[in-house]
Amino acid sequence: MLKLYNSLSRKIEDFIPKVEGKVGMYTCGPTVYSFAHIGNFRTYATADILIRTLKAQGMDVTYIMNLTDVGHLTGDNEGDADTGEDRMEKSATKEGKTAWEIADFYSQAFLDDFKKLNLTTPKLFAKATDHIQEQVDLVKRLEETGYTYATNDGIYFDTSLVKKYGELSDLDQIKEGARVEVNVQKRNPRDFALWKFSPQDTKRHMEWESPWGVGFPGWHIECSAMAMKYLGESFDIHAGGIDLKETHHPNEIAQSEAVTHKTFSKYWVHSAFMLVAGERMSKSKGNNYRLYDLEKEGYNPSHLRYLYLNAHYRQEMNFTFAALDAGRNALERLQNMMVKWQESEKGATEYEEKFFEALNDDLNAPQAVAVMWDMVKADIPDGEKLHSLLKMDEVFGLGLREYYEKVAGKPVDVPAEVQELIEMRQMARKNKQYIQADHLRNKVKKLGFDIQDTEKGIEIKKIASE
Ligand code: AMP
Ligand code: ZN
Repeated sequence: MLKLYNSLSRKIEDFIPKVEGKVGMYTCGPTVYSFAHIGNFRTYATADILIRTLKAQGMDVTYIMNLTDVGHLTGDNEGDADTGEDRMEKSATKEGKTAWEIADFYSQAFLDDFKKLNLTTPKLFAKATDHIQEQVDLVKRLEETGYTYATNDGIYFDTSLVKKYGELSDLDQIKEGARVEVNVQKRNPRDFALWKFSPQDTKRHMEWESPWGVGFPGWHIECSAMAMKYLGESFDIHAGGIDLKETHHPNEIAQSEAVTHKTFSKYWVHSAFMLVAGERMSKSKGNNYRLYDLEKEGYNPSHLRYLYLNAHYRQEMNFTFAALDAGRNALERLQNMMVKWQESEKGATEYEEKFFEALNDDLNAPQAVAVMWDMVKADIPDGEKLHSLLKMDEVFGLGLREYYEKVAGKPVDVPAEVQELIEMRQMARKNKQYIQADHLRNKVKKLGFDIQDTEKGIEIKKIASE
């Protein structure tokens, strides 16, 4: 059984889904105002390993991820994400495009990298701008139950009305006003915007009519509205980066549970940051790498995936090219070994058990990698190793089956004339005409091909030209 650290209880708990065998899971996706970096993707890779671990053990997972294409203001996730400029509109001004064009462009770039990294495709990438009505409806429900109030820049949620507000968060006080003006009309520092009014003097690219006036939704409301629409008012797992634990996720909980009186998500999973030289990798610090930057240097996405596996998801991970090289070397060693193996029907059960034990222990991926290497080095038949390795890779997602099929399974392109000689040689051997068989083998050799007899039949190799 899977045991998972739940940020809400701050304990490792048994994972028991609401409905046996079925899991509803939501991950907060990117704000699509610029390129996602490999730190962001560490968070999505953590969610991916969790989904794959559940699926490999027979769970049916419904997975939803949002794309924030409106409403995320320039404040950070530790408190002032409701203030400042709209990230999308700011980026649009900078690039001389509309916010809609920015959203399209960076969403596509994100989806391309997501695919390259072999991350499990959600049932839906839910865009905030496709769900404005759902967000307005949710704010209306909150208004009816008395949780909202208006200021001159928007409709706010009154956090003082929620007894357990901020249960998830470790912040005593938000860093309100750290970078921008404090909204003096806010009743409590941690109150947050549900709906923001468009400024009177400027025309925004993205704005909608609402019962409270023309404007746009606050950042937090989209996740509550979309998660509840697709997963129900109460579901199993909500995931995201560690910073979201402080403000975004407590706000999602507050506004959802205020209307439903049900536990919004049972388990909260937060992935630790990727660092560079000890500092958080971030867009604003300019210390970030994209998948593109790694590809340009000759790495491929599976090297990065291997690197991610080397640290437990709740531990910070320092990115270095030396570590990425080590990951690449290890993966290449593994690939070179396995292409020589032929898969057998059964696997190395004992190692598979240990492998899932490691993952079921709060997704201990580094331990699962160690089990995999123990198996690869063990004195057991190669065919069994390959069988289990490919099963393990259903969780690791390193694309080993595709690699195997591409490299080991690819027949050598043999010309018809050579093929005919090979068949004649096989026939001669069958008839025990060994001299004739050797003669034919030499003929084949002269044409540039080598025949090797193995336990499983013959292997044809092209002789490298000098
Ligand atoms: P953003 O696009 O800034 O909203 O971030 C998207 C996701 O990536 C969020 O879940 C963040 O918590 C996460 N994230 C941001 N920076 C990092 C980092 N350096 N390492 C891991 N995850 C991060
Ligand atoms: Zn969210």
